[in-house]
Order: sequence, then C-alpha cells, then structure tokens
Amino acid sequence: MEVFIEPIGRLINELSKLPGVGKKTAQRYAYRIIAMPEGEARAFAEAVLDVKRRVHFCKICGNFTEEDPCAICKTRDASTICVVKEPKDVIALEKLHEYRGVYHVLHGVIDPMNGVGPNDIRIKELLARIGDGVKEVIMATNPDVEGEATAMYIAKLLKPMGVKVTRIAHGVPIGSELEYADEVTLARALIERKEL
Ligand SMILES: [Zn+2]
Repeated sequence: MEVFIEPIGRLINELSKLPGVGKKTAQRYAYRIIAMPEGEARAFAEAVLDVKRRVHFCKICGNFTEEDPCAICKTRDASTICVVKEPKDVIALEKLHEYRGVYHVLHGVIDPMNGVGPNDIRIKELLARIGDGVKEVIMATNPDVEGEATAMYIAKLLKPMGVKVTRIAHGVPIGSELEYADEVTLARALIERKEL
C-alpha cells in the first residue's frame, strides 16, 4: 500500500472493504473517483453519508426505512405476515406486485454451525406481533438447510398461538436464494404455499 500516496492509499483501503472488491478493483475505482469532477465526487460521498444518516430499521418489521413505522407496515394488510431472512428478500417479493400483506425481517436464520441461535435473530419480535388480527404467517426463508430449519422452528412456536403457518412452495430451487429466483417462479412459490 505504501506505493500509493496517503490519500489514494486510504481510498483504496476503504473501497476494498466492499464485498467482492479486491485490491485491484479498489485501485480501479479509486482512479475513477480521482477523475470525477468535484461535484460528482461530492454527490458520491454524500450518498454514502446519507444512507447512514437517514436509513434505519422499522421497529415493527425490521426492514430498512426512513420513517418509523415503514410505509408497508403503515398501509398494508396486517393480517398476513411474510417472514424473510433479509431486507433484500422484501425487495424480491415486492417486485412481484402479488403480495398485499406485511413483512417480518429476521436479520438472519438459525445456523448453529456459525453460532447463530434462535435468540440471535428477530424471533421474539415476531411472536410479539401475533395476536389480534394476524391470521397467517408465511415462512419465506430461503429453501436451503438453515432456511428450512428456521421455518420449522418458528412454525412450532406459532402453531400453538392459533395462527395459520404456511411455507412458500418449492418452485424456488432447493439451496438457492429468494433473491435469485426468477419472478414467475417466486410468484408461483408464494401462491402455491403450503400449510405447515
Ligand atoms: Zn415496517
């Protein structure tokens, strides 16, 4: 890194913290930023600061939001809750324009191999939402080992509470992520969900 003058070395170091960005790519990005007009570079830096200033998690569903509760929690049918692993899964499902209910973002799945237990994800927050008005909880975690185990674990907790628990159908290829399923497949998986 010492071959770069300090400000360039620092920028390369920061950029290489991004996923999938190695030192070579970080160097290319840094040179591109150096070549930017002042205003463009400022807009870039401001956008980074702005997401940190303005984006936080909705206290109800755990999705990214500017206002709390988020627009989905405020306006949609709260009798159906769709449970997902991450905020990006909400985007994948919203793109279908098929679902009218609300979400619950777990921020992870149960993964004992990596030290993630039930108390490390937002399960108790989900249980706290069950009560008046919630008729169905759709488990839409990824169809991989951890996603399946998490769906079964939560279903066991919810069923005694008198709520219908469903699982998205296996149109989504086993072991894959919701995010990468094509929209027709994901929409079908949602419509053909099965009761757990
Ligand atoms: Zn929300």
